[in-house]
Amino acid sequence: MASKLLRAVAAVAATAMLAFSASAQSAIRDAEIEDTLREWTDPILDVAGLVPKDVQIIVLNDPTLNAYVANGQRIHLHTGLLIAAESPGQIKGVIGHEICHIACGHTVARLHAASVAMRPALVSIGLGILAIAAGEPGAGAALISSSSQFAALNFYVHTRAEESSADAAAVKYLSALGESPAGLVEFFENFRYQEVLSDARRYPYFRSHPLASDRIRTVRGLAEATGLMETPASPHVQKQYEMMRAKLIGFLDSPLKVRREYPPTDKSEPARYARAISAFQASDIQTALDATDTLLADEPDNPYFNELKGQILFESGRAAESVEPHKRSLELIPGQPLFLINYARSLNARGEEGDYQLAETALRDALVAEPDNAFAWAQLAITLENQDRRAEAQLATAESAYWVGDIVRANAFARRAVAALEKGTTTYRRADDILLITDANNPDNRQFYERYGRSSRLSLETGGRDMPFGDFSATARR
Ligand SMILES: [Zn+2]
Repeated sequence: MASKLLRAVAAVAATAMLAFSASAQSAIRDAEIEDTLREWTDPILDVAGLVPKDVQIIVLNDPTLNAYVANGQRIHLHTGLLIAAESPGQIKGVIGHEICHIACGHTVARLHAASVAMRPALVSIGLGILAIAAGEPGAGAALISSSSQFAALNFYVHTRAEESSADAAAVKYLSALGESPAGLVEFFENFRYQEVLSDARRYPYFRSHPLASDRIRTVRGLAEATGLMETPASPHVQKQYEMMRAKLIGFLDSPLKVRREYPPTDKSEPARYARAISAFQASDIQTALDATDTLLADEPDNPYFNELKGQILFESGRAAESVEPHKRSLELIPGQPLFLINYARSLNARGEEGDYQLAETALRDALVAEPDNAFAWAQLAITLENQDRRAEAQLATAESAYWVGDIVRANAFARRAVAALEKGTTTYRRADDILLITDANNPDNRQFYERYGRSSRLSLETGGRDMPFGDFSATARR
């Protein structure tokens, strides 16, 4: 139900912002990719004088090459850029450039694309990349459709002068860290040919970041002056880059492309990783498991290999067996929110004595780190329901619906929770808060109720009948 409106919003956005691809996109959540990008980005943010925890990094599943800052301090990176980049330094260079757009006090021409329906800051659509499609069908569909909320963004449009200063700042940040700025220069030079393409065929990044040859010359001059051009990436960073790229290609590209990029003769770790994931994507479960086991034999303490094994087992219907590898991944990176959710989901599915209690603890920990994680709330609802704590489960469902922007459903479940929870408790107050912010009389929510009224009024099991539909024009904003 959300997608129709969002497509309309996206269409408006597309015409308003020729420079950007505004097609519906989904955010990708993956512990390894996020851990890697954070590890690379946080020191740059530090040097730029920003507080790392205030800056979000969002990876969007989009094969085009793009990176931008939008909706405040959020750096968006397309998977297309992460895959096309030929070195970690190229990605770091682009990130450094984007960081300056936040840190350098650029006056921003804000193109306000849409003000509504944008509530979820981050929508989980997968545990491991895109995994949800194979998981809980109901929750998955809702989460996936709402993830197109990324279509409408407040883009910042920068002047040429700001682009130059962002290039210079990226070089400065990296050299302050003792790292080579060569990646930024290489990235620009590799894509120089984009300049000869017509605007429509250009990657969005180069429509917004025109690569005039004087711009490349200037960056090269600045980069060479640092004397760090030949400084290689550390082996650790190089490996992170290769594994991240292998994972993205394994999950997102066709088996044919995976084979071309990583032919069977390539016995390297990234190649085996990409092939394991590709087999998993193609539902060749035994090949996927065997390949993952060979990776684990070499590196039993790799948290992401353990996660992959848990994911393959879970999604091939072997939930009970998936608990152990997920537990192991958590022992290796305690508190990793996405690992906590994986582990809880497996426990929920196994359902042995004590599993729901463990799942609840894991999910509550994950939700401290990511209170807006709709998928975690949905899993918590299952956990609570299985413990016969129906009212709390309804609140968790309301939270889940709220964070994917399903205002009507959030309201309906908050209403049920309020009716059943003990007055004055924290859970009661939260349910009451959700009831208030999702109120049909709030003009911000009007569109949700109107759409709901038109389409699926009867599909909501309860709570719908007494909701006022129709004319809200006389209702004042509270
Ligand atoms: Zn820029």
